Amino acid sequence: MKDRFGREIDYLRVSVTDRCNFRCLYCLPSPITLLPLLSYEEILNVVRASVSLGIKKFRITGGEPLVRRDIIYFLKEALSIKGVEKVSLTTNGYLLGDFARELSNIGLHSINVSINSLDRNNFQKITGVDGLKKVIEGIKQLLDLGFGGASGAIKINTVLLKNYNEDEVLEFARITQDYTATIRFIEYMPCGNWETSSGNIINGDEIIKQISEKVGELVRISDISGSGPARYYRLKDSNGKIGFILPVSQPFCAECNRLRLTADGYLKSCLLSDNEIDIKHILRETKDERRKSKEIEEVIIKAILNKPLSHSHKRNALMSRIGG
Ligand code: SAM
Ligand code: SF4
Repeated sequence: MKDRFGREIDYLRVSVTDRCNFRCLYCLPSPITLLPLLSYEEILNVVRASVSLGIKKFRITGGEPLVRRDIIYFLKEALSIKGVEKVSLTTNGYLLGDFARELSNIGLHSINVSINSLDRNNFQKITGVDGLKKVIEGIKQLLDLGFGGASGAIKINTVLLKNYNEDEVLEFARITQDYTATIRFIEYMPCGNWETSSGNIINGDEIIKQISEKVGELVRISDISGSGPARYYRLKDSNGKIGFILPVSQPFCAECNRLRLTADGYLKSCLLSDNEIDIKHILRETKDERRKSKEIEEVIIKAILNKPLSHSHKRNALMSRIGG
């Protein structure tokens, strides 16, 4: 279904939990008040209604999705819904090893793993957990099990954080010279309550320039299906890819194709807007199943039609609730 500005909305990001086993300084303030979560059945009802409106791609995120009990059951159920084309996962990777076999068997389209530092101590400084080794091991296990074949179904997401990892950017980029990996640099969005918020933004173009000057020529790759908001490059003579997601310096609102379902049952049509619609009350209060599906569809249509043309940089959004 198209929104008022002609954008085809075909993608729903679902935060299945606001809980997390990390405390990334740019995402989760501490302490947080934990929210009452939608049940899996409630989320699946939203997925079914979404499919009937042409939303075919889903990304499961959080908080940390792998900390929620029975997550594999939920992923399998979502994948089995008729009309669902792609289910992907975004994770901090800490529990990937524990679930590697199941994750590689159920038919997930892709897994994005967030790694913001390649240095053990810095990783711990950013996430609050001494977990880099475990994350890398989890990825290796998935690769050993053949997850995604050679299609680059595992991507590494790195949020650019001034004074924390800007000096590691070149090292991240060099990985794509040695491996057929996809590394994506994401501009930090000042929307949590990290004290020095906007002072922490590193401009993505600056990073592109640095990589070109210090690592090698970057060649733009134009036609990557499912690339979403990322702009992709390749280092000349390398097989890996380097992506840039620059929501602050180069907003991609004009091509935005997504809605978000928060962990506590609200539909958001823009990550950086406070506008959201309560869908939980329908899920809980409407008893007749057919009527419930109709009402959920109506809310989704409303969210699509309310989708703003561009974002407004609200700062009080909690990413773990919305799913990034
Ligand atoms: N826990 C999982 C993870 O970290 O990948 C999934 C949830 S996390 C909220 C989803 C994505 O949002 C991650 O790639 C994370 O780095 C990113 N993120 C969180 N806060 C952000 C911020 N303020 N600016 C940019 N990206 C952010
Ligand atoms: Fe947890 Fe992901 Fe937020 Fe880090 S970015 S605190 S891993 S939800």
